[in-house]
Amino acid sequence: MNIPSAILNRTLLKKDGSRSVLHPWIYASAVQSLDGNPEAGDIVAVREPKGAFIAYGHYSPQSRIRIRLLSGKESEFPDGKWFSDRLKTSFGLRKSYLEKNAFSDSCRLVFGESDGLPGLVIDRYGTVLVAQFLTCGMDRIKKMIAVATLEISSADAVYERGDCEIRKLEGLGDSSGLISGKPVADDGGFNVMENGLSFYADIFRGQKTGFFLDQRHNRKTVSEFIIPGTDVLDCFSYTGGFGVYAAKAGAGSVTMLDESESALATARKNLTLNKLDSSKAEFIAGDAFSVLREFRDRGRQFDFIILDPPKFAPTKATLPRAERAYKDINLLAMKLLRRGGMLATFSCSSGMDRENFRKVLLWASEDAGRDVQIIWNFSQPPDHPVRLIFPESEYLKGFLCRVL
Ligand code: SAH
Repeated sequence: MNIPSAILNRTLLKKDGSRSVLHPWIYASAVQSLDGNPEAGDIVAVREPKGAFIAYGHYSPQSRIRIRLLSGKESEFPDGKWFSDRLKTSFGLRKSYLEKNAFSDSCRLVFGESDGLPGLVIDRYGTVLVAQFLTCGMDRIKKMIAVATLEISSADAVYERGDCEIRKLEGLGDSSGLISGKPVADDGGFNVMENGLSFYADIFRGQKTGFFLDQRHNRKTVSEFIIPGTDVLDCFSYTGGFGVYAAKAGAGSVTMLDESESALATARKNLTLNKLDSSKAEFIAGDAFSVLREFRDRGRQFDFIILDPPKFAPTKATLPRAERAYKDINLLAMKLLRRGGMLATFSCSSGMDRENFRKVLLWASEDAGRDVQIIWNFSQPPDHPVRLIFPESEYLKGFLCRVL
């Protein structure tokens, strides 16, 4: 087989020629020359300036991240079997979670670089899998991945959700629909079970792949701190993930706030699905910053506020603006809490690390004139692992705070 090569302009091997653990991204600026005219999505052999083999990787000519590393052994070319073995390892890591937890049927099966499969995300919703192919290399082999995935997972179907921004950086268009298996729902709707609660997930039109699986553990933790009869605000509620847990925990009132009307309609549906009284719930469609300001001006108060905003800082470059947004929204929330009330506050921006987020919360606390105790650290769940060499995959962080 004639495998094209990418020659780097610096060495990645140690002085004694041995290999270190490698970050999975090779930027365009690190590639000195190409041999063999690789095309978008080809597998290339990445080589030292003097030609020694480093790793195989997927080639993306349009992206600044020019190559994403796959196999680090020259004798292990990433063929169908290699991908299938990787998928098995990745699924195996989640197997015990799914088997031992009779109350949840959904989780992330593949988390891209963290599972050694850059550009691939696969979420499991009961018997249906939803995949995202985010690089041209993964896009090219999606049928093969879907077929292998079905075989290993014994799921009924693999759907693609390819309407995401990251694909554009690779020169890929939108692409969604059934890839393998039998069609399971005409309208894309499924009931997901999470910690014994049911949620409607729309895998065709919902955000991400349909549901925010990554908040599963944090929702449960939050529900343990809800005192029956108290007033809860689920801000940036989407389809009511936290709000449904709060209602189940006996909250006296649950206010769900999101800019998306359709997400709120599903949130209402999710309360009914769990036989919870939706007369205690209020649904507000609007901009969270404006609505919280209105609440402040009207003197409205809550006992527990959940703040789970979208990524304000997708990259380090957007950090200064994002810091202001995080500070503003947390400052508003602190002011709306009764003394001793609780705030569960999150950031899913990989550009903002935990320490930075804590600093922003301190600014908010100082401006609000409210002393804040951290009760618990939230993070992403075990099906979203973080490789030490790839800190970019650590994106979800949060704090459970008592606001005095
Ligand atoms: N907490 C949710 C996930 C939240 S995702 C869960 O557990 O499932 C972030 C949500 O913020 C999205 O639903 C999006 O519609 C909403 N959103 C984004 N910007 C907003 C804004 N300025 N005001 C209100 N909602 C916003």
